[in-house]
Amino acid sequence: MSKKISIIGSGFSALSACCYLAKAGHDVTIYEKNAMVGGRARQITKDGFTFDIGPSWYWMPDVFEKFFNDFGKSTSDFYELDKLSPAYKIFFSDDVITIGDHMDQICEEFDRIEPGSSKPLRKFIARAQEHYNIAINKVVLKPGLSPFELVTKETITRVDQFFKTISSEVRKNFKNPKLISTLEFPVLFLGAKPNQTPSFYSFMNFADFGLGTWHPKGGMYEIIKGMKSLAESLGVTINTNSNVEKINVFNGKSVGISVNAETITSDIVLSGADYHHSETLLDKNYRQYSESYWDKRTFAPSSLLFYVGFDVKLKNVEHHNLFFDTNFEKHAEEIYDDPKWPEDPLFYANFPSVTDQSMSPSGCETGFFLIPIAPGLKDTPALRQQYFDIIMNRFELRTNQNVKQNILFKESFCVNDFISEYNSYKGNAYGMANTLMQTAFLRPKLKSKKVNGLYFTGQLTVPGPGVPPSLISGKLVAELIQKNEI
Ligand SMILES: Cc1cc2nc3c(=O)[nH]c(=O)nc-3n(C[C@H](O)[C@H](O)[C@H](O)COP(=O)(O)OP(=O)(O)OC[C@H]3O[C@@H](n4cnc5c(N)ncnc54)[C@H](O)[C@@H]3O)c2cc1C
Repeated sequence: MSKKISIIGSGFSALSACCYLAKAGHDVTIYEKNAMVGGRARQITKDGFTFDIGPSWYWMPDVFEKFFNDFGKSTSDFYELDKLSPAYKIFFSDDVITIGDHMDQICEEFDRIEPGSSKPLRKFIARAQEHYNIAINKVVLKPGLSPFELVTKETITRVDQFFKTISSEVRKNFKNPKLISTLEFPVLFLGAKPNQTPSFYSFMNFADFGLGTWHPKGGMYEIIKGMKSLAESLGVTINTNSNVEKINVFNGKSVGISVNAETITSDIVLSGADYHHSETLLDKNYRQYSESYWDKRTFAPSSLLFYVGFDVKLKNVEHHNLFFDTNFEKHAEEIYDDPKWPEDPLFYANFPSVTDQSMSPSGCETGFFLIPIAPGLKDTPALRQQYFDIIMNRFELRTNQNVKQNILFKESFCVNDFISEYNSYKGNAYGMANTLMQTAFLRPKLKSKKVNGLYFTGQLTVPGPGVPPSLISGKLVAELIQKNEI
């Protein structure tokens, strides 16, 4: 039976959900507040430079492929993928580690830093691969309705992996602090400190070293363009500049939304906007989670971001570069334990035009710089400038070049923008962290317990933060709607 479904937002999760729902025969319309679809993954262009303003790491290519396969398509029908070689570089104060695109190269690099470490590395990655197969093919495909979803033949024998942390597992096998940081880096995508993240999540290390880092030619926004075109081909209507002001409820059942002061009726409402904000669109008695619930959750970091156009090609950099030349633990404490602007920040820099010249004018470089910070910090133009100067000085020092005079322009994005652009809770950049107590059935629910016909999707729900989980979240909620409402 076909239902009329209104979807709030057009991030990865909403675009994924709309495709599955339209394929099932529903009449689906998206309402996006911004002028452009894509949410946190939008793109800006300026003077011939192209910037992905959010995600830049294309990991888990199998998840993207499976998404398009579900519609009889392939990623190659929408964009061209390159495997990056090397995958990325990590700058430390006294050395640089290069992560190649093959285990043999990575093992050589590990042995150079800590002789003999390639042996435990191969074992660690083999275990991470087993976790990946269980996680991606079984665990993350569950809608988070009950704890029993996690109980499978495979997880029962690995129950200890949910109670040990990734940090203890890495430290048991490796002694060199640089290798420890290298192996702890992938779980930062999950939004929590490695000593708060279950070691089962080492599957992220397999995603990193085993499956590699990829780049869609033209940038990450090519994925959004592909999903938008797929959605439209399936009959989805997409409205931009459409701010949803209210979710309308009658007798405990969602009956539609108010958009730009117009009332739209629908059988089902699905919100892909940040969960906390989505609930504020309801009258108080229909909200499931209190302000104190949200305040007590561990949120993934916010970020201070800079999009910079350089008028030269930069030296000594790769497409992805991590600057771990300061104290990793101290910066993590300043994000999670004692939220404040970091004294000596780690940062990440990406220059997609190193491998994809279509992203900058010839002879120029497109630069994206990211400093992870605690959500909810005070955000002022002066602070942004202060941190830009800090990281530019460090960037010049570590890469051994002067570049400040080659900056044509810079744009920035921080806490205030996350709030105003996405209605993000405390300006978080990528949702709620995947700690043990915020995993699977312990995350905010896909279906409202208080309003019939109201559903949620996105990085604050299951499975969690990141582009691949958002694609999966959209599929999970579409399946749940299909099961409950049809
Ligand atoms: C700086 C940054 C770097 C990242 N790096 C990576 C990476 O390298 N790799 C990776 O896999 N992931 C990365 N992520 C995470 C990834 O981008 C997100 O997990 C994912 O894009 C979230 O998608 P979503 O659908 O949950 O939400 P969103 O993309 O936030 O979509 C929500 C949408 O709802 C809209 N909306 C909000 N309120 C309303 C309203 N009232 N009415 C109408 N519309 C509304 C918003 O405008 C937005 O378009 C990064 C995120 C950020 C911010």
